[in-house]
Amino acid sequence: MEQVTLGKTGICVNKNGFGALPIQRISDEEAVLLLRKACDNGITFFDTARAYTDSEHKLGLAFHDRWDDTIYVSSKTAAGTPEGFWKDLETSLAQLQRDYLDLYQFHNPAFCPKPGDGSGLYECMLEAKKQGKIRHIGITNHRLAVAEEAVESGLYETLQFPFSYLSSDKDLELVDKCEKAKMGFIAMKALSGGLINNSAAAYAYLSQFPHVLPIWGVQREKELDEFISYVQNPPALTQELKNVITDDRQELQGEFCRGCGYCMPCPAGIEINNCARMSLLIRRSPSEAQLTSEMQEKMMQIEKCLHCGKCKSKCPYNLDTPALLERNLKDYKEILAGKAY
Ligand code: SF4
Ligand code: SF4
Repeated sequence: MEQVTLGKTGICVNKNGFGALPIQRISDEEAVLLLRKACDNGITFFDTARAYTDSEHKLGLAFHDRWDDTIYVSSKTAAGTPEGFWKDLETSLAQLQRDYLDLYQFHNPAFCPKPGDGSGLYECMLEAKKQGKIRHIGITNHRLAVAEEAVESGLYETLQFPFSYLSSDKDLELVDKCEKAKMGFIAMKALSGGLINNSAAAYAYLSQFPHVLPIWGVQREKELDEFISYVQNPPALTQELKNVITDDRQELQGEFCRGCGYCMPCPAGIEINNCARMSLLIRRSPSEAQLTSEMQEKMMQIEKCLHCGKCKSKCPYNLDTPALLERNLKDYKEILAGKAY
């Protein structure tokens, strides 16, 4: 069993965390079953957010009668004002049916909140800690600059950031900086939004970083069973898995859409987070789901692009999103016309 201690928080959990975003898409009963099964099998860190609709409610249903100091829950607020902060925190606690959060994180803010910056947000975190409503203060981000500022500020106990074997050298430097600053590093998108389809390779890669805790987004029992098996038998970085990583890096090098959705909504109604990576999805996941009439309709929506540039300006990976959409549409049309893929 591999354990991770999240920096100075002292939170020590198995190196398989539960990302509770996807449980929004399943019923209460299914979610309760998954969450309890995870916990019964050694997965005890659950990450949710106020923005994940009923995810906190489902965690509350699963654990209201068993919350204790061995189950950890982290949530997030995207509030931009102190009023919003307190409303979010109180709602999260009520939904979770818990008196406190082990970790409360600013959810992907465009700037790094600091005391005295005029927003009043960091002061709210301090006050919430003082009141015993949160135990530790963290931040999540998709922007390298904000994440670096958070590490350098010394104000945060954890950073949640996308990290997988497809990450860049700059991301790796960030992971190192966190370790030096004794900050916990929570890795989101360790499967790169579905583009990595070998979870053993993803796990084995991250096992090289003892301070990194991956939170796996789980929606199906089959997926959960895979991660539960890693609790007892953590995959080692064998030559076979190293080869998988090398091949994936070659195939996915350069500019590709991670599906994060931060560029949305699109005024032309384009489902950018899926359409901008369709060529990869078709080739790396079951293709039938990408070729349905519904999906074809969504892809053709790309032709209605207004070239307003809003998506491009918001993409944390600096992608030329409209151009990427066009390339994906061209490829998609060729596939529909019979091109082998
Ligand atoms: S450039 Fe096109 S895809 Fe991007 S936000 Fe504008 S309309 Fe949508
Ligand atoms: S284009 Fe950029 S912002 Fe939009 S979904 Fe892809 S990676 Fe995310």
